[in-house]
Amino acid sequence: MDESNSWAETYHDCVEQVVDLGTQHGWTIDSQSLVDHELYRTTFMKLGPERPRKLLVVTSGLHGVEGFLGSAIQAMIIRHFSNRLDPERESAILLVHAINPFGFDQLRRFDENNVDLNRNFLLRGEEYQGANEGYRNLNRLLNPPNWPRFEIPFALQAGWKIARHGLNSLQRAVAGGQYDYPSGLFFGGQEPTRTLRALEKVLLPEIQSTPATLHFDIHSGLGLSGEYQFLVGHELSAEEIGLLKVLSANRMKFPEEDKAYEAKGNFNRWIRHHAPMASSICLEYGTFPPVEVLGALRAENAAHHWGEPGSNHFREAKNRLKEAFFPSSRSWRSRVYNESKSLFDRIFDLWLNQ
Ligand SMILES: [Zn+2]
Repeated sequence: MDESNSWAETYHDCVEQVVDLGTQHGWTIDSQSLVDHELYRTTFMKLGPERPRKLLVVTSGLHGVEGFLGSAIQAMIIRHFSNRLDPERESAILLVHAINPFGFDQLRRFDENNVDLNRNFLLRGEEYQGANEGYRNLNRLLNPPNWPRFEIPFALQAGWKIARHGLNSLQRAVAGGQYDYPSGLFFGGQEPTRTLRALEKVLLPEIQSTPATLHFDIHSGLGLSGEYQFLVGHELSAEEIGLLKVLSANRMKFPEEDKAYEAKGNFNRWIRHHAPMASSICLEYGTFPPVEVLGALRAENAAHHWGEPGSNHFREAKNRLKEAFFPSSRSWRSRVYNESKSLFDRIFDLWLNQ
C-alpha cells in the first residue's frame, strides 16, 4: 500500500494523526505548549524503557512549515517501527512533534516573533547580533520594504545577484542567518527564545541522562529533489563518521563542503554542546532548486509583514511556501516515504537494536 497518500495537510491534522497512531501503538504521550499558547502544542512521544541505554530522538517542525514532512516521517516511524524495538537491548525512541507549531499552522518557516529557530541556539558567550556582508548586500532583494504590488520575477533578480556576487555569497547570506533585521528572512532573534528555554528543561535532560543518543532533526527545502542528506553541524569522531556514512548510504555533508549549512545558532550544535554523548544530525530533504525556495520564502515573508490576511495574494504566498517545503507531487512523496523507511530500517538494524 502506498501510505504516502495518507499524509495530513494541516497542523491540527498532523497532531491528531501522530497522537492517534501513538495511542494505538502504546507510546507515552505528553503534549505541552512551549510558548504558552493553548492552541499551539508540541507533542513528546516516547516508547521503550524509562532509562534506556540508547536513545533515538527524532524532532520535527523547528522550521514550522517543514513540519509537514517531519510529521509524516514520524507517523511512518510509529506505524512501522513501534514493534521493532528489541526489549533486550534497552533502547528507546523519543519523537518531538512540531517544535514551532505557530509556523507549522500559519505556513511560515519562522516563529511568532519572526525568529528562525535554527539560528537561535547560540552557545554561552555568543552574541545575538550581526549579519554577514552578503546578507547586507541582499537585504533589499530578500526583504522588500512593503507588500510588492507587482512581484518582479525573483528568479531574474536572483540570477543577476548571483552573477554579481556569486552563488556562494547568496548561500552564505542565507545559511549564516542574521541578527540585525527583525522582520527579515533568517533572523536569529535577539535573545534565547522561549522555545530554546523550554527545550533546555524538557529535552536536554532526556538526552543528557542517556549513555548514547542519535538525534535527527528533520528539515526540507535543501538538496536534490526527493533525496535526503545528513547535514553535520558539529565535530564528529572517526567512529561516528563511520557509522553515519553507513546509515546515510554515504549522503553526508560537512559544513566545509557545503556553504549552505554554515549556520551559527543551529540546533544540532547546541544539542552536542550540552550533551557530548549525542550525535545530532540535520536530516534534510530536497524539494526544489534554491532560488525557487528562496523566492517562496521572500513572498511569504512580505505577505506576513505587509500583506492582507484573507486576500488572494496572501493565501497564494502561504500555499506557495507550503508547496516549496512539502511538494504535493505523488512521486516526490512516495520516494521520500520509501527512502525514509529504508533509512530507519538501517538505523534500527545497525544501531538501535545493536
Ligand atoms: Zn529547515
